[in-house]
Amino acid sequence: MSTAERALVAPLDVEKVRADFPILSRSVHGKPLVFLDSAASSQKPQVVIDAMSEFYSSGYANIHRGLYELSAEATRRYEAVREITRNFIGAGDAREIVFVRNATEAINLVAHSWGRSHVSEGDEVLISAMEHHANIVPWQMLCEEKGAVLRVVPINDRGEIELEALEQHISSRTRMISVCHVSNALGTINPVDEIVSMAHARGIPILLDGAQAVPHMKVNVEEIGCDFYVFSGHKLFGPSGAGVLYGRLELLDAMPPFLGGGDMIESVSFEKTTYAEVPQRFEAGTPDIAGVIGLGAAIEYLESVGWDAIEAWEVELMDYAVDRLAAIPEVRVIGTARRKVPVLSFDLEGVHPHDVAMVLDQEGVAVRAGHHCAQPVMERFEVPATTRATLAFYNTRSDVDALVRGLEKVLELFD
Ligand code: PLP
Repeated sequence: MSTAERALVAPLDVEKVRADFPILSRSVHGKPLVFLDSAASSQKPQVVIDAMSEFYSSGYANIHRGLYELSAEATRRYEAVREITRNFIGAGDAREIVFVRNATEAINLVAHSWGRSHVSEGDEVLISAMEHHANIVPWQMLCEEKGAVLRVVPINDRGEIELEALEQHISSRTRMISVCHVSNALGTINPVDEIVSMAHARGIPILLDGAQAVPHMKVNVEEIGCDFYVFSGHKLFGPSGAGVLYGRLELLDAMPPFLGGGDMIESVSFEKTTYAEVPQRFEAGTPDIAGVIGLGAAIEYLESVGWDAIEAWEVELMDYAVDRLAAIPEVRVIGTARRKVPVLSFDLEGVHPHDVAMVLDQEGVAVRAGHHCAQPVMERFEVPATTRATLAFYNTRSDVDALVRGLEKVLELFD
């Protein structure tokens, strides 16, 4: 969104939004909580908590198999979320939405089911150097099993994928490209339209890991044109335990099951089992029914707040945070992509990130310190770890001020 477009958007009423998240009014160590770790897992609005609690108190039953009213109702509610999710990410058909536990499971599903039937010895799977371990290890396991090669597109000093570098890493043996839409360690928004065009021009399918994208921007999988898109509900202001795999119907339809068991079959005998149609084929066993209902409530809540207002507020907040951090000479921000979401990873000269996070915690400021499940990113920038503050639409300028005051305190203590 350009500055001119942002100026036309009705501003977000951040205090009203904050009132929707009960946890944001609690204290930690006697100080008001300043929650800056939404990239790890975000907080939940009351409507999500209520939807799940109401389901458990008055609507709970297992889905898809009961003939009684309660089960039929639970099934309708669960399936309604499939439609809400389809609409949320702009998929063409609700059968393209598979409920899984999280983004990790979704990538494993594709690597296992699609990967095992399409990747052979000597083939290549292409990822980037900014991936979360969830988008490295499943492919690495597949490559080890098949004798295939995992190739990695490097990133530049700003933490961006350069399209020329990507092009150079594609070969006639590339069978899959799997990259993040947004990096969890750097905040970089990748040029997914261009990456998808490049892959498809060569007939290569592409998976986008959207775990860090969907909490910050409106995503439309049909416009992007990707083959698979994955995300976790718990980063999207929904509960943990419910995530999403989007797959183009044509691809999903041709894929064998990932997990076997109840609810994914058409018929079972000891001689032969036949499998259900998609998406049921990929939803073996009892799912996190209440989690999916909570995910539906989270999506409806976000849409009621409005993406334009969310995006405009986050850009304003990020600019403010970047300026305030730039005024501290000891801070080196890691991840300075031209297009990024408010994920602020940084090194504080002379102080280990774990010490930074512990001092900040005493001030009520929750940040993450470590490798953020992206060890290759740490290696690329030659740091053992970073401190990471992430902003969501419920954060405020005074949260950023609290972070900066906390960092000044850290510097005094470690002088
Ligand atoms: N991909 C990215 C970019 C992430 O940031 C994360 C979690 O931090 C994941 C995948 C894995 O998410 P989950 O642990 O919910 O499966």
